[in-house]
This record gives sequence, structure tokens and C-alpha cells, in this order.
Amino acid sequence: LAKKAEPGSAAILRGVPAVPGIAVGPARILEDPLDVVTERRLAPGDVEGEIDRFRKALQVAGEELTELRETTRRDLDEETARIFDVQLAILEDPLAVDRTVEAIRAEHLNAEFLFLRHMREMREGLSAVSDSFFRDRGVDLKDVKQRVLRHLSGVATPRDLRGGILITREMTPSDAVLLEPDRVLGFATELGGATSHAAIMARARGIPAVVGVKGLLDELKDGDEVALDGLRGTVEIKPSPARRERLRARRRQYVRIERKHARLASAPAETLDGRRVKLAANMELPIELDYILERGAEGIGLFRTEFFFMLSHRAPTEDEQVQVYGEVLERVGEKGVIIRALDVGGDKMASYLGMPRELNPFLGMRGIRYLVAHPRLFLVQLRAILRAARGRRARILLPMVSSLEEVEIARGLIRKAMATLRRRRVGFDTDPELGVMIEVPSAVMMADELAQAADFLSVGSNDLIQFMLAIDRGNQALIDLYRPHHPAVLRALKRTVDAGHRHGIPVSICGEMAGDLLSTPLLVGLGFDQLSVSPYMLPDVKQALRSVRYGDCLALTEEALRCRTPQDVTALVRARMGGAYADLLHILDEAGRNSHGDPEAEPRRITPAGKKER
Ligand code: PEP
Ligand code: MG
Repeated sequence: LAKKAEPGSAAILRGVPAVPGIAVGPARILEDPLDVVTERRLAPGDVEGEIDRFRKALQVAGEELTELRETTRRDLDEETARIFDVQLAILEDPLAVDRTVEAIRAEHLNAEFLFLRHMREMREGLSAVSDSFFRDRGVDLKDVKQRVLRHLSGVATPRDLRGGILITREMTPSDAVLLEPDRVLGFATELGGATSHAAIMARARGIPAVVGVKGLLDELKDGDEVALDGLRGTVEIKPSPARRERLRARRRQYVRIERKHARLASAPAETLDGRRVKLAANMELPIELDYILERGAEGIGLFRTEFFFMLSHRAPTEDEQVQVYGEVLERVGEKGVIIRALDVGGDKMASYLGMPRELNPFLGMRGIRYLVAHPRLFLVQLRAILRAARGRRARILLPMVSSLEEVEIARGLIRKAMATLRRRRVGFDTDPELGVMIEVPSAVMMADELAQAADFLSVGSNDLIQFMLAIDRGNQALIDLYRPHHPAVLRALKRTVDAGHRHGIPVSICGEMAGDLLSTPLLVGLGFDQLSVSPYMLPDVKQALRSVRYGDCLALTEEALRCRTPQDVTALVRARMGGAYADLLHILDEAGRNSHGDPEAEPRRITPAGKKER
């Protein structure tokens, strides 16, 4: 627990920044109904009444979920709405419902106590199957459990809590849909990561959030004044009036920067000496589209389709997929969408895909390997993409390619998908582009052959760095060793870009490194044609691009490729380029969004010349 007393605040708790923005206001604690459930013995005459009360709670919960599904379908989109189908199915599961009714009759205990017991047993059953399976279903199960328990025990819902900063142990997807910017100023949770579905939904609505704040509920009481900083990932408890004023000033500054960014949305992504680099966005779910388009993305450089597969309790059908891809292609229009084929495995699972339990899942049945082993599922997705892209251009990206053969098999399956569609006499794009992700060292070494076989390349730096350096990308303990500026990484990137260009195809980068401001000049200098970044980084990267000269980036990169250590590369970038966009780097350092483990990232002031103030 990173807690310290500060002059000006009773305590500062640190978590993970999930949605940028600053909010100051009273804490509104969303109680966990689980905390208030106790065992109560029933008089024999009360048993049937208790069963009625339980059935009534189920019915109300079911009605609410149906309504949530409909409003989500109307206000957001079809596949997000499917979260609630999963929950409705749990609500009808005999394991949870019939067993509770039988137990009320047999044991004469209260409904909430027995329902909770059965839901816990279900959860244990799930966790025994596999950790990821458990993670996937766990939140839905918990969501349903809380909803029913809330009705049985009468604790507040997010709808009842207005005008403050919502504090809760874990934000479920159905609490997250109830979040509206005019109801809540922000939210903080004890559990969850920045890529949780709740964080994605909050981001789409622009509600500042910090997640994964340990000790949050122990430190706070309902009504305590708090300041939430979604840029730095902090929650300050009881800030003094002077401190609150400073935070409000910081919020005004942030709003000003955001307005400036909004103006930047229509400006071209080009260097001072006129080198254009396409600046696209990564997208997990179509609900992010408004935010992405408002920020002037030049298309979607990576649509991670596995997220909408993961939201459902079964694989979406071909028609359902056509609808989703069609809508995204239509809304993005001319700028184009790169649709990545399902990239499951590693830490991304969908319960119904029957993923094996593996000792080394990141080196296991992942991405293209899974697709090749399950051609029927792959063919459904290929047909859907081809149909949705009718009259446009389908761009299909293959994840985790480690050999040429995988690309050839995928080409064969695309031909097969086309033959089926021709037989069915439905319209489709007959000239799709096929891209290969470069995220495994063997793909870097084979980049020439892969470039010959593909229409474009896209570097997945998240995985590439993990595999080049043998550093698990999710292991917090190794975070200082996960170095995008490692000379081995830079040399791998150079080899990839050069191979693509030798064969006349564009090369993009779509991992988090693409949005890392200390890497921008290097990526420009290496010759990447496109950077595809996390949507909230779009304006910052554009501003960085617009602050440097291509000529300088080339010279910098040449020198960086000769460096011997990551530290040398980072120091070189700061020394040569820091001055060009010092204000941006300052915000980045303050926000702790610097991934280079360098001491400059300590929150100190950086003067416009790019030097620290001592
Ligand atoms: C990557 O590995 O860099 C990438 C873009 O894919 P993902 O993060 O989804 O694995
Ligand atoms: Mg990857």
C-alpha cells in the first residue's frame, strides 16, 4: 500500500490510471451487498414467504438486466449488450436458483445466505476449470450475485448515488453502464486493471477513473472529500482547501490541454519538415469509436476482435460478426480498418472456445496457431470480414505468426471462404489485403519472406519486446527490464521496416510502444509508415510528431542503432529531442506513463529547455 501523509492531504493512495481526468468531490461508497449478508433462521411458517421473496428478487433482477441489455443495445452497441445475455443465463441456472429454493425448504435459512453459498460454490467450480475461465466468468457471476443480493438486502445501487466520486471494491460491467458523466464525477476501485471492461466503458464516456487502489475501502468513509487524478493514478483523501484549489487548477489546465488537443484533431500528422506518418488508433470494442473519431484518428490500425468474442457466452455467428465489422467499416469510412483475426490465448480467453490449460500460455496455443487448429471458427470470421467489406477494402491481420507456412495456410482459408461465399451468391470483397503481425523473433528473422507473402506488416511491440527480451509483459516485478529502447528491439524493428520496404509494402507498429512519446522520433526515423496507438494517446503523439524534424529523427535513429544499452538510447532521445516537446514529456513523466525506468521520470519539474529543475 503506497500511502503517505502529505502536507495538504490526509493520505494519498496509488493505483493504476484508467481514464484520464481529474475530479474533486465527496466519496460515495458503493457498498458490497456481500458485506451485509448474515445467516438467519426461519420459523417453519415463514419458509414459503421466503421463497416468494427470493423469486421476486430474481424476477426484478431479470427485468433490470433485460432493460440494461436494451438500453445498452440502443445507446452503445450490440456486442456490449451481450454481456447481459450471459448474466440472464446465469440467473436461470438451476445450480443457483433451484438449489437455493430446495435449501430454503430443507434448512430453513434465509434466501440471501443460501443464494450466496451456492454462487460461491459455482465460482469455485469455475476456478477449478482454469484461471482465465474463472476470470472471464467471475465478473458476470459476481454481477448477478450482487444484483440479486441488493434486492434481498436493500443496499444502494450506483443509480442511488449521485454527484460524487464512486468508490467500490470492483466495478462490474452493469455498474459501469449506469455511470453517466452527469451522475458521477469519477470512480475508483480496489480491484481491476486499466483494460477491464468497466475501464473501457468509462473511457468511452470520459469519466476519470483510477483502478486497482489497494486499501481504498479501509481508508475512506462515505462523504470524505477526495481528489481523484486519473492521469497519475492517485486518490487523495481529505485534501486541504489549498490542496483542493491546486488540484482544481490542475484540472483547468488539463481541460485547456484537452481543448487544444481537440483543435489538433484535424491537423495533419506530419513532422516540421513535412514527413507524413499515418496516425491510427487501436480499438478493443466499437463503443470506443466516437472517442476515436473525435480525436482525429486516421483509421483503425488494430481492431482487436477477441474482445467482443470475450464478451459473449458463445462465439458470435457469421451474421452477427458481419453486422459488427460492417458498422465499424462504415463509420470509419475511407480511412480504413485493420481487422485482426481472433487473437485468443495467452491472457485472452473465451470460456466457450475450449482453450487448453497450459503451463506457458504465452508460448502456447495462441493467435494464428489457434486459428489454424480451428479452421471452422476462422472461416466464419473470414467470411464475415469479407462480406462486411463488400464495396470497401478488407484488411485482415494475422496475430502471432512465427512461420511462413501459417500465412500460406491463412491465404488458402481466405480462398476457401471466398469460394463458399461465391457459391452462396452473396456479395463480398474479392481483393482483401492480408497483413502479418511481427511480434515473435522468428518473424523478424523471416521478415523478408513474410513481406513477400503479405500485403502489409504490423509490429506488435508488446509481444515482440516480451519475446525478444524474455520478459513476461504482465509481470510487474520485471517492469524495469521491459525496455522498448533495448538495442536488440531497435535492431529488430529496423530489420522489419527495411524488409517491408524492400518488398514495397507498408509497415505499421501497433503495440504500446507506438504511443510512447520517448519512442516517437525513433519510430519516425526507422521509417514506419503508420503508428497505431491507444486512443487517448492520439493527440499527444500527433503533437510530438509535429514538433520534430524528420531529418533529425533519421540522424537520431542512426546513432541509437549503434548504442550499447537501453539507458544510452533513452538518454540520447532525451538529449536530442526532449527540448522539442518538453511540455508533453513533462505531463508524461508526471503521470508516471514513462516506461523506460529512467530517473528523469520522477515527478520533477522540467523546464522548457528540457532540463530538470533541481
Ligand atoms: C502487441 O503484441 O503489441 C499487440 C498489438 O497485440 P496484443 O497487445 O493484443 O497482444
Ligand atoms: Mg500481441
